[in-house]
Amino acid sequence: ESEARETVLKEVEEKGVKFIEMQFSDILGTVKSVAIPSSKLERALAEGIFIDGSSILGYATIDESDMRAQPIPSSFQIYPWTHGTNMKTARLLCQIYDHCGNRFKGDPRWVLEKMVEKANAKGLEYFVGPEFEFFLFNLDANGEPITKPSDAAGYFDLLELDRGEEVRKEITLKLDEIGFDTEASHHEVAPGQHEIGMRYNKALTVADRIMTFKLAVKTIAKQHGFYASFMPKPMFGCNGSGMHVHQSLASEDKNLFDDPSDKFGLSKEAYYYLGGLLAHAPEMSAILNSQVNSYKRLVPGYEAPCYISWANMNRSALIRVPAGRGMKTRVEIRNPDPAGNPYLQFAVMLAAGLDGIENKIEPPGPMERDIFHMSPEERIQNGITSLPANLGDALEIMSKSDLMKETLGSHIFCHYLKIKNDDWDSYRTYVTDWEIMNSLKRL
Ligand code: GLN
Ligand code: MG
Ligand code: MG
Ligand code: MG
Repeated sequence: ESEARETVLKEVEEKGVKFIEMQFSDILGTVKSVAIPSSKLERALAEGIFIDGSSILGYATIDESDMRAQPIPSSFQIYPWTHGTNMKTARLLCQIYDHCGNRFKGDPRWVLEKMVEKANAKGLEYFVGPEFEFFLFNLDANGEPITKPSDAAGYFDLLELDRGEEVRKEITLKLDEIGFDTEASHHEVAPGQHEIGMRYNKALTVADRIMTFKLAVKTIAKQHGFYASFMPKPMFGCNGSGMHVHQSLASEDKNLFDDPSDKFGLSKEAYYYLGGLLAHAPEMSAILNSQVNSYKRLVPGYEAPCYISWANMNRSALIRVPAGRGMKTRVEIRNPDPAGNPYLQFAVMLAAGLDGIENKIEPPGPMERDIFHMSPEERIQNGITSLPANLGDALEIMSKSDLMKETLGSHIFCHYLKIKNDDWDSYRTYVTDWEIMNSLKRL
């Protein structure tokens, strides 16, 4: 520990870092950050810094709001996108402690840490590889983002001299500089929409990276005169932005999901894990699809799932088992979106999958047919049910889930439901343009 602190101090000195952003996540996954000059780093590493929890969303407790953010030395990372030697900035992620010196139960990172420990105690390591989709939008004369995409291109298009392409490539270069291992990046289906895949790694490492990833994407887009948005469905009539998550479990450095003797090359555990994800999909929805807007993406016709099924090839399924086997054996869950809190998203998926393994939840057989083109009767015959249709339904289902309560802990479980139900109420009582357009003159 003290050795790790020394390494950080040495690097700050050698590389001329001027500021360190001390970061943690609020309940919704928004990065909270306190900048300290590097002269104050030694003390911050030793003692942490004190924060007022009452002003952090989802942190407030009735009794005490004094909390301590304790930096994690191994999370030290210099931002390659800060310009000028006077501004060189690095990040340190923090763990939050309450006024009694215990880990604060409202810190979302703690939820994932705990869940990962639970898996580790069974000799399992949880790996995730998320694919991020996002839009690059133009700014208006006042510098405000508008939903006018940066280009008119489509899936895998390569445009000459396209500024969006430039931005995307610069993002991947900068992320690789700090060892974030991006995989392929390409233009997505909708105009101005891009995808960057993050190489798989341990869930906590990946969630930590996502905190900085979103910031990097937004910062670099801004430097090029665009606004990057992770809103799930910013434009009616176009594909929305998902965060597909490839996941697997390893046991003693071997992929637990791989079994060459099986018809589909999948192990018993892989099937049970799948079974757990499918069985708990409705309960997890409010965490995986956390916004009112998320549910406008999960509709037929836009390559986003709305029915609960799995398949090997078919992309209309909620869960797909992509082609690679051996160490590459994994399941890809397709409903999560990039607007959520990655710590909570990974924690609930791991909990659901492990529950599947523990309780030997058998998944139904794969559904290779395109479910979008089945009639409602055919779907019933095939036992295919739907994801919740909106945030209100998702919250209702989550509120009854023991697994979600246990995984999130009662602090986050209750605060999350409260915050999101307020959102849902505010939306469902709002009179929208659609209603005026379709009713005002008719009624
Ligand atoms: N954008 C789609 C979604 O909402 C996915 C498209 C794709 O990756 N093929 O999930
Ligand atoms: Mg992809
Ligand atoms: Mg994609
Ligand atoms: Mg995908």
